[in-house]
Amino acid sequence: MINKSLKQLGEMLQTKQISSVELTQTYLDRIAQLNPEMNAFITVDPDKSLAQAKQADAMIATGKTTALTGIPIAQKDIFVAQGWRTTCASKMLENFIGPYDATVIQQFNQAGAVNLGKTNMDEFAMGSSNETSYFGKVQNPWDRSRVPGGSSGGSAAAVAARLCAAATGTDTGGSIRQPASLCGLSGLKPTYGLASRYGMIAFASSLDQAGPMARSCEDMALMMNVMVGYDERDSTSLNHPKEDYTRELGKPLNGLKIGLPKEYFSEGLDNNVATIVQAAIDEYRKLGAEIVDISLPNTRLSIPVYYVLAPAEASSNLSRYDGVRYGHRAKQYGDLMDMYCKTRAEGFGAEVKRRILIGTYVLSAGYYDAYYLQAQKIRRLIAQDFENAFKQCDVIMGPTAPSTAFKIGEKADDPISMYLQDIYTIAVNLAGLPGMSVPAGFSNNLPVGLQIIGNYFDEARMLNVGHAYQQVTDWHNRMPEGIA
Ligand code: GLN
Repeated sequence: MINKSLKQLGEMLQTKQISSVELTQTYLDRIAQLNPEMNAFITVDPDKSLAQAKQADAMIATGKTTALTGIPIAQKDIFVAQGWRTTCASKMLENFIGPYDATVIQQFNQAGAVNLGKTNMDEFAMGSSNETSYFGKVQNPWDRSRVPGGSSGGSAAAVAARLCAAATGTDTGGSIRQPASLCGLSGLKPTYGLASRYGMIAFASSLDQAGPMARSCEDMALMMNVMVGYDERDSTSLNHPKEDYTRELGKPLNGLKIGLPKEYFSEGLDNNVATIVQAAIDEYRKLGAEIVDISLPNTRLSIPVYYVLAPAEASSNLSRYDGVRYGHRAKQYGDLMDMYCKTRAEGFGAEVKRRILIGTYVLSAGYYDAYYLQAQKIRRLIAQDFENAFKQCDVIMGPTAPSTAFKIGEKADDPISMYLQDIYTIAVNLAGLPGMSVPAGFSNNLPVGLQIIGNYFDEARMLNVGHAYQQVTDWHNRMPEGIA
């Protein structure tokens, strides 16, 4: 059961070989057994999930269903969900109960999917290892002494350990793709603006984007059909015509032009990862694709640009946590200013404070031109690099992350080395493009991801590009040992 695809589960539900209540209970039992150590979920609420499963079974009985009706999906704890504790993995929101549904949650509810629980993540999605969570580290199911990646590390571990059928993530600089790579999953960050940010707790608003994390591209296509849609409550939501993201699946790849950026295969890339990614590209050659060499000359600037812009936006977004409206408030304080200071000193973790300090600094009157404005100009150049590249190729391929999963604690005190985890993913967010990671092999028993970057709105083709590879390889079906 736990190895079935979303499509297979959907068929089993609709033909009543299994009920949603049974399926949900199967996953809840696995969570009860494995989560105490793995820590992939911050909140599970069996009563709520089972009530939704009952409703799904009633929908199935009447024949009014969608592809995801009755299927248990784990939700990253960055999405506000009505009646659910929604923490963003911060002490600041430790006891915050969602008063409404984020659009993404609403979309899954309307499709009849079951919310299986809220997954662990880096605090306010800031991190690449899930170690900044106030609720503690998450284990990588492939090696419990290693990180699952971040910030959507709980979602990644939950899908890899078969604690849910699929999960949602968010990606500001790589937080869907890098954990997908480190946990052996498929993960997609859509074109900026396709999935609504309403009710998705803001980190860096011009970069944040929600997307699916699942075992296969076919599963992700079904989730995209639910998650994408115009939302007037999000001012950056795109009014893009509704698409069926499964429509390209199965088309041959003959003549597909794959660009390989030389900057993605240079210094800093682990040798085994490079070899595995090259082998995946050879597989694409066999599938009829043509390989072209390209260049994304400003790649090395993407991390410095991101670490000016993302903290700038974060420092503004996080100013709302003031102890007045919601969330944590210090117990003892003097005047109002003291209340703000103590509340924020107590409520935020070290990485979040680091970002707020950097962001406030680069936005200050004396430094705005030198840092923030300059970074915005380079952001434009980075987008132009991709624009030029897509004149030569249909998709771009390379590694998702420079290494496989590292040991818990290994980079915790070295922010720069942690920030470099996203060297191949961050530019995609800066340009607003869609990017995806698919499992491409193993190095010392640890998963390696292949990144596929597409042009704006080219998700349906990208999903087929990943799907074609998943028809001739079985990396995505492998299961970590010891979790059966
Ligand atoms: N690792 C990056 C950061 O720490 C990206 C995180 C994300 O995509 N949410 O900011």
